[in-house]
Amino acid sequence: MVPFTRSTMTSFVLAVVFCLSAVTGSSADAQAVRNRILMRVFWQDRETAQLSWADITSGDKWGIKRAWIHGFPMVDAENQELAPMKHHNGVLVTGVRDHQDGTLQSGWISVDTGVFEEPHGNHTHWKYTGLPKVTGMNLDAHQGNPGQLSVSENIFYLAHDQKNGFSQLQPSLLKQASSASESAKFFSGGGSHIALAAVNDAVAYSSWDDESGPNGGRVDVVPLRQAGKPKIAYSFQLPSAAIHGITHNSGKVFLAPADGICWVKVDLSLKETAESVQVNYLSLGQDELSDRPVRTGTFSNARNWVLCTTGEGDQSKLCLINAESADPSVVKVNVPAADGLRLTAPETVLSLGNRYAFLFQERTDAVNGVQEQLTVVELDPDRNRDFSDARIRTTIPVGASRTEGHHGHHAIAFDAYGRYAAFTEPGEGILNLFSLQDMQVVARFKVGGSPDRIVAVGAPEHFH
Ligand SMILES: [Zn+2]
Repeated sequence: MVPFTRSTMTSFVLAVVFCLSAVTGSSADAQAVRNRILMRVFWQDRETAQLSWADITSGDKWGIKRAWIHGFPMVDAENQELAPMKHHNGVLVTGVRDHQDGTLQSGWISVDTGVFEEPHGNHTHWKYTGLPKVTGMNLDAHQGNPGQLSVSENIFYLAHDQKNGFSQLQPSLLKQASSASESAKFFSGGGSHIALAAVNDAVAYSSWDDESGPNGGRVDVVPLRQAGKPKIAYSFQLPSAAIHGITHNSGKVFLAPADGICWVKVDLSLKETAESVQVNYLSLGQDELSDRPVRTGTFSNARNWVLCTTGEGDQSKLCLINAESADPSVVKVNVPAADGLRLTAPETVLSLGNRYAFLFQERTDAVNGVQEQLTVVELDPDRNRDFSDARIRTTIPVGASRTEGHHGHHAIAFDAYGRYAAFTEPGEGILNLFSLQDMQVVARFKVGGSPDRIVAVGAPEHFH
């Protein structure tokens, strides 16, 4: 495959913009190939703090029709920002943070995506019959600046960083405006900038990101099914502090503190105590330049494997851990990256029987001018469910990020069948459509602003 050079990418943009107007002009043409919706995407615009949506279509040409969401509140882009978003079962939730530790106005907004999955014998059809609309919101000075948002066992979990706790949000209640505002239940546990993993709707592990002090390296274990006022069952300490990431897989909880990775067995029946819980440690090595321990941040999962990235420049690695193993170890895949680039957290997808991880190589400093890249790793080339043969499938140049704190990173989302990916280029105002079958960008859409986080709902329509 020939990678795009900078100049061919630019002419590609112009070509797509031209094609978009051509599609509009020929929409009444009876000879035209029937337009098919590939997925519905929702993306946050950093500049306006608004949420956009669009159906991406294929036909004679690739198409995108952008719109805004009915009932979405005006978020003050000067003093507030949109926080992580997730979707599940037709409902999308986005957090809202303010720049005053949650004392101005923060909280969450829920949206009916208008997309539903219709059973059809041994398969399902995706229908795009509704328009997205806001079903509920909880925005005030008491929501404690929501941070991490995750979905586990059909329930949303939203961390309230300044309230040292988190909420459960029930998608079934979020679907209806009449019940959406009553859908949240608050639990204490975790603090500062919380990383949270809920397991089997029974127990949550909620961490603190303090760099030192009594809460440095602290993890709270919270029962989710207790009667009465929820309480922390017990807390334990990791050997190092500044916890940035957490996940669970195969009966283990994995955590990302300042040094390496720690893991504990999931304690569903709450039989452990602060003293008895066994904290296991996996080293990620030492950084050759700084001589400090190597750390990671955000985890992702594919089958029974946990994935994360470490290092920058020539030290960049994708790390893979078999969570099912009684004695887990770290498999490292070197990812060639230029100096001045760092890998984003992996995003994984199952596509046509193959599992892939997508990693962006982003500038460590927003203005260093190094060409950014997208690397796709094939996780299990021989398909024997052992990922230790993971290898790089392709690396392609991409338009720029525009990083600023947690914002402005490239973000990617996949349709429900894993046929196409949509990813943002925050520094270019562009949304890309990537075909996994062809392993290349097939369309670039100029959407303007600074497209940030993105979510994809649904899968390519088929007609029969
Ligand atoms: Zn069918």
